[in-house]
Order: sequence, then structure tokens, then C-alpha cells
Amino acid sequence: MTIVRTEHKTCAVCDVSSPVRVWLSYSSFEKMGPSLDGCQPGAPNADLVQFCRHCGYASYEITEVPQCPGIIKTKFYRDVLKHRWIDDSCKGYLCLTFFLVADDDYKGAFWSSLRAAWVCDADDYWQGSEEYRLQALEMMRRSHEAGIAVSESQEQDHLLQTDLLRRTGSFQQAMSIVMEALKGCREQKMGRLLRFERRLIENGDKAVHWVKEAEGVAWA
Ligand SMILES: [Zn+2]
Repeated sequence: MTIVRTEHKTCAVCDVSSPVRVWLSYSSFEKMGPSLDGCQPGAPNADLVQFCRHCGYASYEITEVPQCPGIIKTKFYRDVLKHRWIDDSCKGYLCLTFFLVADDDYKGAFWSSLRAAWVCDADDYWQGSEEYRLQALEMMRRSHEAGIAVSESQEQDHLLQTDLLRRTGSFQQAMSIVMEALKGCREQKMGRLLRFERRLIENGDKAVHWVKEAEGVAWA
């Protein structure tokens, strides 16, 4: 059962109270499981970020003071706040990404960008779904440059990278990554997932697909 409560939190930047949705419990849609890029239906994906509607500060905890509060006044930050086609959760993740980049936390910036894309998936806003996946890929590239994987393992990163490239229609690049990853893959489950990705890429499939499809588990 999903129970969501609205709390009011005082923004550490402007000192104004904002409503924040807090999930006390949720149905995780266990039968379906996560998508190949890790989105879990039924989980509080859109509500993990807290967003102050007064000053536009976004954080996983808006009562905590940011290290670089001046970012909120920059043009690129204000441009996100003015965006007309995306909802507040998506704006929150995009704004949060600016703070994480300023802290050189590219792993965190990868996940906030990808979560922005998931919000767009749920809203059927396909331009945002692709644009923020491309942004996530750039954050992954920077994280790898710093020698930091964005997930639990290098192989899992390759799967994520392949899936994000496929979802943005970059099939040639996705195929090159997946073939390279398959060469070094020794783990049976990961091998299945990568071969499933390869088949989707061969079919020119940009749609969302699920880990359980790759595992051949019937779910209804
Ligand atoms: Zn504020």
C-alpha cells in the first residue's frame, strides 16, 4: 500500500516553508521489477528531490545549506526554472544537477539527470526523456574520467550506458558498447541482459524494457 504524506520544510536558502511529499510506504510492483535503466515503477522516483517553489532551491534535503548558493542566480539555473513544459520534480532534479556538478559529484549528477528523464517518461514528454538521458550520459563520461563508476560495477555501468544510448536512438554507439561489454562479461545474468540489449538495438527499439523480460520471466 502506498502512503504519502505532505510535510512543510523551511528552505535553507530563502527561509520560506515549502510543501514536500514524504513516502511512508509504497507498493514496489515487485512482479514487474526495474527497467533496464533502473527505474522502479511504484517507487517514489519523482519525489526524492525537494524543491522550493519560492526561490527554486533544489536538494535531497532543502533544510541543508548548499555549498554554492550563488548557483541559483545563474542564467542557466533560472532558465530551467522558467521551463514551461516540465513539472516541478523534473525541474528539481535538473536544478539539483547544477549543485552536484559544482561539487564535482558527477555520479550524483548522473542519477539526478536520469531521474529527470524518468519523470519525463511518466509524463510522456519524449523530448525531455531523450535530452536528460543525453545529459546523464555526459555526467557518466565525466564520472568515468574521474575513475568513478556510477553504479555498483563497471559491467552495470556498461548496461546503463547501452540502455541510455538505445533510448536516445544512438544505436551504432550502443552496439559498439554492448559488443565490447559482452567480450569481457563472465557473469551469466549480466550476459543475458547485455544480449537482450543487443537484440533491442538490432531491432532499432527505443522503448522502455524490463530486466524480467531479459530474464525470460513471465509477468502479468
Ligand atoms: Zn527557497
